[in-house]
Amino acid sequence: MSIDKNDTSYDTLYSAFKERIEQLSKLPKMREDASIEQVIEENGFSRRDFMKWAGAVTAMLSLPATFTPLVADAIKVADRLPIVWLHMAECTGCSESLLRSANPSIDSLIFDYISLEYHETLMAAAGWQAEQNLEGAIEKYKGRYILMVEGGVPLGNAGSFLTIGGHGKKGKDIAADAAASAAAIFAIGTCSSFGGVQAAVPNPTGAVPLSKVTSKPVINVPGCPPSEKNIVGTLLHYLLYGTLPALDAYNRPKWAYRLRIHDQCERRAHFDAGEFVEQFGDEGAKDGYCLYKVGCKGPYTFNNCSKNKFNQGTSWPVQAGFGCMGCSEPDFWDTMGTVGEPLKDRLYQTVFSGAGADATADKIGVTLLAATAVGVAAHAAISAIKPPKE
Ligand code: SF4
Ligand code: SF4
Repeated sequence: MSIDKNDTSYDTLYSAFKERIEQLSKLPKMREDASIEQVIEENGFSRRDFMKWAGAVTAMLSLPATFTPLVADAIKVADRLPIVWLHMAECTGCSESLLRSANPSIDSLIFDYISLEYHETLMAAAGWQAEQNLEGAIEKYKGRYILMVEGGVPLGNAGSFLTIGGHGKKGKDIAADAAASAAAIFAIGTCSSFGGVQAAVPNPTGAVPLSKVTSKPVINVPGCPPSEKNIVGTLLHYLLYGTLPALDAYNRPKWAYRLRIHDQCERRAHFDAGEFVEQFGDEGAKDGYCLYKVGCKGPYTFNNCSKNKFNQGTSWPVQAGFGCMGCSEPDFWDTMGTVGEPLKDRLYQTVFSGAGADATADKIGVTLLAATAVGVAAHAAISAIKPPKE
């Protein structure tokens, strides 16, 4: 059964998901000797933990709680989808943050387990053998594999700033070839999504986002690094629906990036009340006041960090007392200003007649006006709604 996007009834959706999971379960497993449940259990998680995790992911994907058992079943068949993970120009931080945890989360265990077919950081093969493995995977799983790419793609000097392997193949050609036969393409992290620090002015290597080297749709999962839940959730969404999700104007899945950090922030009441940290360590900082004046870019940044958090869900930057740096926005290195300083009205004065967010925040007590001012430009810039793509 294919999913009719005009039929929003949950019964129909439930049946369609069920059917898709059954179809996937008939495909060969990537590893015959283990299962995702086994790996999760061996790492000290109980079935209760797993179901709790599945419940959280179900809510994150905006599905009703009755879908939780289906989401749990879906993740059990995730090892039927071959994944090819490429590294372009980057620091490997996205992979590392997922994998090098002392106490891996269920998301990272799942990711570790399913990233089997080709992942340069994880696989044992090197040199010629690695190149053969990649070519073999692309050929064997043509039209079926999911391509995940970490890093920007240098195009400067005809792409010669990034060559990989014994044959000195250019990164741009490797990415384009792998994209050509992929079933779905995810740009993981801000470098792959938008170019990242490599593409910051003056961009000496001519780095570009992955979407510039393929004509196929690319789902951007930005962040520096992106949350593991957004990576696994994007995969699960594809697994359940069999189509690409609804996207915002920057091709980010709307289920994860549709709201601003500012809209979901636990310090928001202080912003609205005009209560700001004036400098790190002051009384306002001790009282958990808003971090806008010490550089928080949450009003301009779309992501779900306050919901997902980091380090096994323990905290996130704003909770820890340091403002958001805007890492999931395009060109944040160039456009988000100095770390630790507010953007003031630099970005928005043309939009709001000179009443920039900081100017307003400095003056008011109850700052409904400020919230509106900050919101106007951000929403105007990126609230364009993209329909789901096939
Ligand atoms: S400016 Fe930053 S700290 Fe203040 S409410 Fe918005 S997101 Fe939270
Ligand atoms: S809080 Fe801001 S800077 Fe930090 S990870 Fe989230 S979007 Fe990026």
